[in-house]
Amino acid sequence: MLNIDAIYMREINMPLAHPFETSFGVTTSRRILLIELKSEGLTAWGECVAGEHPYFSDEMIDTAWIITETELAPRLLDANLQHAGDVPDLLKQVRGHRMAKAALENAVWDLESQVKKVSLASLLGGSREIIPCGVSIGIQPTLEKVLEKIETELNAGYQRIKLKCKPGWDSHIFEAVRKRWPDILLSCDANSAYRMKDFDHIASWDQFKLLMIEQPLWYDDFYFHSMLQKRIETAICLDESIRNRRDALAAIDMESCQIINIKVGRVGGFSEAIAVHNAAAERGIPVWCGGMLETGIGRAHNIALSSLPNFSLPGDVSASARYWAQDIIEPEVTVSKTGEIMVPTDIGSGYGILRDRIEKLTVRKQMLRAKASVTA
Ligand SMILES: [Mg+2]
Repeated sequence: MLNIDAIYMREINMPLAHPFETSFGVTTSRRILLIELKSEGLTAWGECVAGEHPYFSDEMIDTAWIITETELAPRLLDANLQHAGDVPDLLKQVRGHRMAKAALENAVWDLESQVKKVSLASLLGGSREIIPCGVSIGIQPTLEKVLEKIETELNAGYQRIKLKCKPGWDSHIFEAVRKRWPDILLSCDANSAYRMKDFDHIASWDQFKLLMIEQPLWYDDFYFHSMLQKRIETAICLDESIRNRRDALAAIDMESCQIINIKVGRVGGFSEAIAVHNAAAERGIPVWCGGMLETGIGRAHNIALSSLPNFSLPGDVSASARYWAQDIIEPEVTVSKTGEIMVPTDIGSGYGILRDRIEKLTVRKQMLRAKASVTA
């Protein structure tokens, strides 16, 4: 039995070590909603990956905050939970708000792994001891800067380089990178920056032998991606379009993609992430774990998820130091010289929480308590 006594919601403000630019714009610091569950002396954590603006999806930290406070957390408090996998059913009356739901559900998985005294990775069904890591490189001020960044990341051991791209920042970049590194695993991510008029342009990228082109078209589309996939040799990978297992099944059946990026926040929590993983595995579609500029708490959860067997391509889960001057976990996430992260085998996520640091970064806090414990 998992009795949730209290839920602390907390907004922290963390400056990024380096600004990160995508086709949405530039991010210089992250406002992040953290969830802290209290249960019979145990403390478990979850991280909401919603951004400051509703640009990646229709969620943002402020919508996640209000939905968690008014709708989601109350459903979790006083519930008779046997297993973290029961959480989606408890929250299903609320439509959408998947990132807010994931923060709560994932914290319950963390709690359950502590109660059962197993690692989070093994509770999720993971079997990999190490996970291969890639990096995502944002849009840079100059081509030289991109080449410099790639060199740094390859020297650090990362196995796959992903370049954020947009119209005007694509072919000439890929060409220069390929000229210098003909054989590296190279992919690109457009975050929905292209349209049907760009099909011929995108088809010309086949010459660059990219591992994949991520979400080139509309964020909510399968049909036009399937048209594009028929026109090009390079695999399309869907990210934003895949909200759940049914979306994955539709996209695979329509041949809208050959690879799926799984983000646990985007699909609403570990239960749905596992369901997407399994559906893809059964159909021979490889998956990898995407990143959302997470702190160490979300990063540790991504590592646990990436230990599932069909996470066969290097993900965007990389070292804490690439993003933060100082993370909020210890030890920080580090990557080996061969571009791998060891999956922790300790109980829970396997990382300690730097509570003092979190306290210092906190800009608002709210405590919600189970009715049963108010009079206790
Ligand atoms: Mg993406």
